[in-house]
Amino acid sequence: MAAQALPFLRWSRSASTLRACSSSTATPHRLLSTLRRPAAAARCESGSKAMLKGMDFSELENWVRAQGFRPGQAMMLWKCLYGNNAWAHCHDELVGLNKDFRKMITERADLKALTVKDILTASDGTRKILFSLEDGPVIETVIIPCARGRTTVCVSSQVGCAMNCQFCFTGRMGLRKHLSTAEIVEQAVFARRLFSDEFGAITNVVFMGMGEPFHNIDNVIKASSIMVDDQGLHFSPRKVTVSTSGLVPQLKRFLHESNCSLAVSLNATTDEVRNWIMPINRKYNLNLLLGTLREELCLKKNYRVLFEYVMLSGVNDSMDDAKRLIELVQGIPCKINLISFNPHSGSQFKPTPDEKIIEFRNVLIQGGLTVFVRLSRGDDQMAACGQLGEPGDYQLPLLRVPEKFQVAL
Ligand code: SF4
Repeated sequence: MAAQALPFLRWSRSASTLRACSSSTATPHRLLSTLRRPAAAARCESGSKAMLKGMDFSELENWVRAQGFRPGQAMMLWKCLYGNNAWAHCHDELVGLNKDFRKMITERADLKALTVKDILTASDGTRKILFSLEDGPVIETVIIPCARGRTTVCVSSQVGCAMNCQFCFTGRMGLRKHLSTAEIVEQAVFARRLFSDEFGAITNVVFMGMGEPFHNIDNVIKASSIMVDDQGLHFSPRKVTVSTSGLVPQLKRFLHESNCSLAVSLNATTDEVRNWIMPINRKYNLNLLLGTLREELCLKKNYRVLFEYVMLSGVNDSMDDAKRLIELVQGIPCKINLISFNPHSGSQFKPTPDEKIIEFRNVLIQGGLTVFVRLSRGDDQMAACGQLGEPGDYQLPLLRVPEKFQVAL
């Protein structure tokens, strides 16, 4: 579920802030080239080897036992991968493991699922990392530092997306591939590895990069459980947020199986508008989506869903929309996040002016709702909400604009 995208400058950073597999005397160029290890070399290393970052702890323990080692050694390996600020990325970094155990891992396992292709810096300090997958496609991950000591990593869950939300650049790509558990987890590991020295702790994870997370739910639930493991990356479940466009059966499953936070990208107050700008609504309409949340959230204590609402000028930003929104979310423990639309090439929408966003927000507050306004971050490098990805020549078609909105566009 993409946030909207930002523009970026090419990356430059000091060697001291970059952790790589090579020695501490490496120059920034050498470090970056290590991270950009050629795909061919990476392929040799994977082959039929086990991908360690695709396993949760109990799977890792079983795998270690199956290789003839004590399950207790699995915890030391887990901590090398995720804990103690190690974030091991290559076999040389498996420090503190017994020699035989390390030799076995070198021969039979791979630690790495992604290769850094480039890092771009937006004028507001937001970073966009482009990762190459082993089989060629590129995904994007965004690191968003915040003045209040919070730094968020926005991870992707798919290459492209099948949902075809009309305001989203990623949606133009169509679905190219689901990401594996390891490919998702490693985005958060890289965020810590590359930026902890510069930004301090990476505190939050949002699944708001490329893709609809619930379309890849098995890998997303597993990846988020690895991220919150208290012996590993140890993110607070409240600070790991999975965002969906509204896949209702998967949403129910997530609420039953995961203790992480949920965000729902709502973006409209009528089925007419939502059917157009978010075609998933034709399958799971507002009534079904919100009714399900109302029922399910009664069963969870101290849990509030975050509704995201991208403000599109003349489409969903009237004061009548604000009043309908208050009615629609009645009985659902929630917060509302109003998001300024980030234009991208070929987009047909215009952003709502700031004054109107404030007016809209004030109506919601008067209606008793908790409301945040999300400022655009990283949009000069196409790193803001809804701007990720590269559709290329083949793009999903835009849907017919309902007649009454043609003037607004
Ligand atoms: S098309 Fe929709 S669901 Fe997919 S990434 Fe974009 S906003 Fe998220």
